Amino acid sequence: MKNLVEKYNIPGPRYTSYPTVPFWKNNPLSVNDWVKTIANNTEEFNSEEISLYIHLPYCESLCTFCGCHKRITKNHAVEGPYIDAVIKEWKLYNQKINFSPNIKELHFGGGTPTFFAPNELIRLVKAIFGKDAIDPNYSELSFEAHPNNTSEEHLEKLHAFGFRRLSLGIQDYSPTVQQAINRIQPFEDVMKVHENAKRIGYKSISHDLVFGLPKQRMNDIVDTVEKTLQLRPDRIALYSYAHVPWIKGNGQRGYDESDLPQDSEKRALYVEAKRMLEAEGYIEIGMDHFALEHDELAIAFKEKNLHRNFMGYTTQNTKFLLGLGMSAISDSWFGFAQNEKSTEKYMEIVNSGIIPIFRGHILSEIDLEIRQYILDLMCHFETEFKADSPNIELQLAIRERLKGMIEDDLVRIESNQVQVTEAGIPFVRNCCMAFDQDLADSQQRENMFSKTI
Ligand code: SF4
Repeated sequence: MKNLVEKYNIPGPRYTSYPTVPFWKNNPLSVNDWVKTIANNTEEFNSEEISLYIHLPYCESLCTFCGCHKRITKNHAVEGPYIDAVIKEWKLYNQKINFSPNIKELHFGGGTPTFFAPNELIRLVKAIFGKDAIDPNYSELSFEAHPNNTSEEHLEKLHAFGFRRLSLGIQDYSPTVQQAINRIQPFEDVMKVHENAKRIGYKSISHDLVFGLPKQRMNDIVDTVEKTLQLRPDRIALYSYAHVPWIKGNGQRGYDESDLPQDSEKRALYVEAKRMLEAEGYIEIGMDHFALEHDELAIAFKEKNLHRNFMGYTTQNTKFLLGLGMSAISDSWFGFAQNEKSTEKYMEIVNSGIIPIFRGHILSEIDLEIRQYILDLMCHFETEFKADSPNIELQLAIRERLKGMIEDDLVRIESNQVQVTEAGIPFVRNCCMAFDQDLADSQQRENMFSKTI
């Protein structure tokens, strides 16, 4: 394993989209071109079911490992005008597209959604849904909860509206690691939020852990997983720390490269955490995720219904993800569009009555074929070459690029079936890279992506 980790631990995308953001070609992307791809979606899939992602960017302090689009402030006067802008953006879409969407899932991400007062969050969802509460059996509502500022009032009010899922950002419980990443949150505080959420009636609680953090050693991850198992969340995300200081600037420069566990040492943290989780009944689903057997994500993985979009793994297979808020990304299946990344500019453009996208990508026929292969691999660890594809040369090139992984017994191909082997699962990003024609055409990878392991 050690040699394989050294061989395959190279910079590569995480494939929340294909084409990946650095290879998007429409910069700028016009609102008309973007809206046309939404019309294509409605025509092709004949469905008004959508997923909605809302980006809530403010945080009170900076965690130095963070790769998210956020704005650090302690001034809570920013809440109201930002919520007004998101509601306005939603109305702009309703006017422009003239559709009456069925919102199958909604997720508050950030930033820190719980930076916002409960009443502001409720004002937002009431305006989006046009009602005082929703049926949680029909729409799946979730939010990211920061253990340090998620109050009982947040939990109660959001639950009363119809939220049933939340994910708690944990990272690691070691005081040394927490100090290195500037995020102090004792286990007792997390336990309080977790237990309150359970008592109030949330049916799925997820904990987000990170391996490969600065100063994180084996005993830290073991202790973090042991504490997590005491609370037994339904889902656990075990993310690889993405070290991309050239993108994220000073935030990730608060510690030295020598503080980071590297290659095999980093991989060993994941392997041990996975062993501990599986011993307690968690099932590994897709990349970096675990769930208890009863959880819908685990069921969807077994039944091969798992889907993945910019929000992560989901059981809702909608073909249109609308992202609202600063930096949010939308996906109409035929196109991607990203909103302005500066909060001020985002609000200014929305308030002048314009949909605030600034770049994106319209997918070609080849892009669409590749995106399906990569989605299959990320969700099910297998895919099938399209037999009637007009892009046979592409398929031949992919087969050629997979040869090394086949020799290392990480991938198997029989006829048109491509299967990631058990040993290949940690290297699924590398397998996707063989399908990635943009990456093959470009020689640049350094300073573009984090490492795959
Ligand atoms: S990790 Fe979360 S709370 Fe910390 S700076 Fe990033 S978005 Fe904000």
